[in-house]
Amino acid sequence: MRALRLLEWKSDPQLVEVEDPVPGPGQVVVRIGGAGACHSDLHLMREFGPGVVPWEPPFTLGHENAGWVHALGSGVTDLEVGQPVAVYGPWGCGTCRRCRLGMENYCEDPLAAPVPGGGGGLGLDGGMAELMLVPAARLLVPLPDGLDPVKAAPLTDAGLTPYHAVRRSWPKLGPGSTAVVVGVGGLGHLAVQVVRATTAARVVAVDTREEARSLAAAEGADLTVAPEDAAAEIRAATGGRGADVVLDFVGSDATLALGAAVGRTLGDLTVVGIAGGTLGLSFFSVPYELSVQTTYWGTRPELEDVLDLAARGLLRAAVTTVTLDGAVEAYHRMQAGTAVGRQVVVPTD
Ligand SMILES: [Zn+2]
Ligand SMILES: [Zn+2]
Repeated sequence: MRALRLLEWKSDPQLVEVEDPVPGPGQVVVRIGGAGACHSDLHLMREFGPGVVPWEPPFTLGHENAGWVHALGSGVTDLEVGQPVAVYGPWGCGTCRRCRLGMENYCEDPLAAPVPGGGGGLGLDGGMAELMLVPAARLLVPLPDGLDPVKAAPLTDAGLTPYHAVRRSWPKLGPGSTAVVVGVGGLGHLAVQVVRATTAARVVAVDTREEARSLAAAEGADLTVAPEDAAAEIRAATGGRGADVVLDFVGSDATLALGAAVGRTLGDLTVVGIAGGTLGLSFFSVPYELSVQTTYWGTRPELEDVLDLAARGLLRAAVTTVTLDGAVEAYHRMQAGTAVGRQVVVPTD
């Protein structure tokens, strides 16, 4: 089969021929219906090098995956060939306390995982291929009725990551509150919808690109602003109080500074984007009791929540489909800032 593989650090991925995967005991091979192209893949192929993460190329890209069960290894009894499934992306050891709670994104024994701190498309072969080997049946979530793999694939990261980030701030997002989404890309446009679907907060979306601000407005943002106007407009829109929750899907020096400038006393500033910026922290540099935190991906039960929201029409990834042959170009568009919403690779006709 053909697979889009990162063969070495600091290079474009290559479309190459590889052997079809065969499931071992407890494993499942999924026929991929959709594999989302994520901005973090750009960091992976442009900036990462030896020693940044505890794994190395070569591997097949694609860590947002959904499709149909293609082949079952021995001992897998609760899935059927042909069944539509989403792949839960962070692969932990499966046996530590957090993994048993479905919190494999924060596995406590990563050296016992299939790959430490990674998963399919992150050190092991991912979904930008016709078939993908999933090392344990527990990592698959059956798709609810009405949700096809192309629509479901981006939800496994671009939907799950914002859902996890928003969910932990739910107590601060009651009536009269304001949530700010910084960066309306693949994750951010779904973050706007997650806030709308699961909280009473007013949503302000910030992005440099006019098309991204239009998308945010179409997804239900109450106010969209460019970064240069954001601090003043958000202060004005909140009666000078600031935002209860800021979700930063960029994570640059500039967006972190914006988050601190528009955050509110007792608020949350949650950093999701991996642009690598830093925020100077002192007693006087942020509002009193503003909690600054990072989050990484989400839990398996939360993925079930996200798929349920999508099946009910409350979450919908804005998707553009591309073929395997067009995948490298898709990453180039993402890097140039001309991709709006999520690009999803559909490997088979
Ligand atoms: Zn991602
Ligand atoms: Zn674990």
